[in-house]
Amino acid sequence: MRLRNVTGASERIAESQYVVQEPANNKGKWKEFFGNNNPIHIEVGMGKGQFIHGMAKANPDVNYIGIERYSTVLLRAVQKMEAEEVPNLFFLCEDAKNIIEIFSKEEIDRIYLNFSDPWPKDRHAKRRLPSRQFLERFDQILKLDGTLEFKTDNKDLFEFALEELEPAGWKAEAVTFDLHHDEKMVQGNIMTEYEEKFSSMGNPIYKYIISR
Ligand code: SAM
Repeated sequence: MRLRNVTGASERIAESQYVVQEPANNKGKWKEFFGNNNPIHIEVGMGKGQFIHGMAKANPDVNYIGIERYSTVLLRAVQKMEAEEVPNLFFLCEDAKNIIEIFSKEEIDRIYLNFSDPWPKDRHAKRRLPSRQFLERFDQILKLDGTLEFKTDNKDLFEFALEELEPAGWKAEAVTFDLHHDEKMVQGNIMTEYEEKFSSMGNPIYKYIISR
């Protein structure tokens, strides 16, 4: 997702109090940054931030960090915060391939991937966020008993994501091929922008929860 022609987006992101400007400086010190011992959950590729903003509102005892690489997209999440500030949520304008420069070993309690870009060409497989290459990075920052949750409406991407688990050393704790009709897994579900759009078109939503 890339929104074009947003005048001054990168300048507005650089000035925003909701965006951590030099996140690598907080590596190993994110609890100090938040000023409490609450668990830290991150969403990688959060887009316009509807999910993580909703999660932060619903769970004030969890600290949230949303990561989005495009300032034009992140600006929408910042604008949501300007309209309704949530104290336990901050944003990073970063490419997730650098994530191990930002968080130290086992610093993160949960990772969310929502409607990640599918990168359909085989030669781009390693750019997919649920790929083994990204799982290896996530493995380094996630607590040993931490979990990663992934939702998508893209069947090929979901099948790819399931196939990546074993070679990457992860296992599925829960899987559904129709989240919105899965009584157990749908509990507490907060929809992302893409989830609203694609489920309203009748697409089933796939989800897994994985651990090592
Ligand atoms: N999660 C949102 C949702 O479900 O509505 C947005 C989904 S959109 C298809 C995927 C988003 O992930 C885009 O905004 C894209 O810029 C971001 N993204 C993809 N790869 C990324 C990466 N390596 N690092 C940070 N953001 C990334």
